[in-house]
Amino acid sequence: MAESSVELRDVSKRHGDTRAVDRVSLVIRRGEFFAILGPSGSGKTTLLRMLAGFESPDAGDILIDGRSVRGVPPNQRPVNLVFQTYALFPHLTVAGNIAFGLEMRRLPRADIAARVEEALDMVRLQGKQDRLPAQLSGGEQQRVAVARALVNRPAVLLLDEPLGALDQQLRTDMQVELKTIQERVGLTFICVTHHQEEALTMSDRVAVMRQGRLLQVGSPRDIYEAPQSAFVANFIGRSNSLTGRIEMVSGLRCTVRAADLPAADPVVAACPAGAGIGSPATLMLRPERLHLSADVQVDGYDNMLPARVSKAIYNGSETQYLLALSDRLSWQVLIPNAGNGQKRFQPGESVFLRWRADEAVVLSE
Ligand code: ADP
Ligand code: MG
Repeated sequence: MAESSVELRDVSKRHGDTRAVDRVSLVIRRGEFFAILGPSGSGKTTLLRMLAGFESPDAGDILIDGRSVRGVPPNQRPVNLVFQTYALFPHLTVAGNIAFGLEMRRLPRADIAARVEEALDMVRLQGKQDRLPAQLSGGEQQRVAVARALVNRPAVLLLDEPLGALDQQLRTDMQVELKTIQERVGLTFICVTHHQEEALTMSDRVAVMRQGRLLQVGSPRDIYEAPQSAFVANFIGRSNSLTGRIEMVSGLRCTVRAADLPAADPVVAACPAGAGIGSPATLMLRPERLHLSADVQVDGYDNMLPARVSKAIYNGSETQYLLALSDRLSWQVLIPNAGNGQKRFQPGESVFLRWRADEAVVLSE
C-alpha cells in the first residue's frame, strides 16, 4: 500500500477569471488528520470538491492511494464528503439516515444493520438510532453526518467546514470529538476550515491557503511558532510586527533598526538565513511571548523597549494590554491572570516590554 493517502501534483482550477486553486502540490499521509486552512474564497472548497470528484482539475493530477483518479466519478472514489449543512433527511431516523446509502446500493439487510451498528458505535450515538434529526442537538446531528459517511468505509473522509453551524462552546467540544473519532477509526480525515483554532486543535498537520496558493504546510506548532510569512503569522493567531533593516550581524544574531522606533532602540534577533547588513527584516512577536514590567530590570532578556499602556482589557483568563511603542507603532501583550499579587497596569502608565531574541520570528522578504 502507498504511504500517501492523497497526493496533489501541481493541481490548478479556474472559475472564470479566478484562479480558485493555483498549482497546489501536497502529500497527505495515511491516517492523518489534515486541515486546509484559509480565509473565505481561498479555494478550500474547490480543492475538496476536486478530491471528491465533483469538479476536475484544469491541470495537474490527483492520486488517491497511489492511483490517479482522473476521470473516476465521485461514487467510485474511496472518499466521502461530509457537508457543512449535514444534509440529513428530516423524515428518516438516525439509523435510517446512516443506512440510506447502503440501501441504495442494495446491500444485504443483515450487512446494513451490522454496519449501521458499527457506525453508531464509532460516533458514540448508540441508543439514539430511532430519533429523528430534529430530536438531536447540533453536535449529534454532526455526528450522524459523519457516521453516514463512515458507513461507506471510505479510505478518506472529506469535511467541509464541519463545525461551521455550531455555536462556540459546542464547536470546542466537537473539535476534540472529531479528533477522537478520527483516531478511533484510523482513517485519513481532510478537513477544510477558515477557523484557525479549529485547525490547530484537531489536526496532525495544517496547510494554509491564500488566493488559491498553498503558503505553508506543517504541524500546528510549526505553523504557529515558525510562520514563514507575515500572512501566516497574522492569520494564525495574533502577532505584533516590527519592520526595519539589519544593521549588524554577529554570529547567529543580528541587530535590527526599526523604522517606527526611536534610533536609540535597536532590537536583537536571530539572523535569518541568507540575510546580511542592509537586508530588510520583519520581526513577528506573539502577544503571549512578551513580558511587561514597571521598572527597568537587568535580567536574561535580550530586548527591552519602553512603552505606554493605552488600554487594558480584562477578559477572564488573561488581560490584553494595548501598548504604544511610538507614535506609529502599537503592540498587544497578553498576560495570564495568575491571581494574587500580580501587577496590573493601568492606561497611561509607562512600562518596559521585554523578550528574548529567539522569541521573535524574523522574516527577510
Ligand atoms: P473557499 O472554500 O476557500 O471559501 P472556494 O473554493 O469556494 O473558496 O472559492 C474559491 C474562489 O473561486 C472564490 O473566488 C470563489 O468566488 C470562486 N468560485 C468558487 N466556486 C465558483 C463557481 N462555481 N463559479 C465561479 N466562481 C467560483
Ligand atoms: Mg468553502
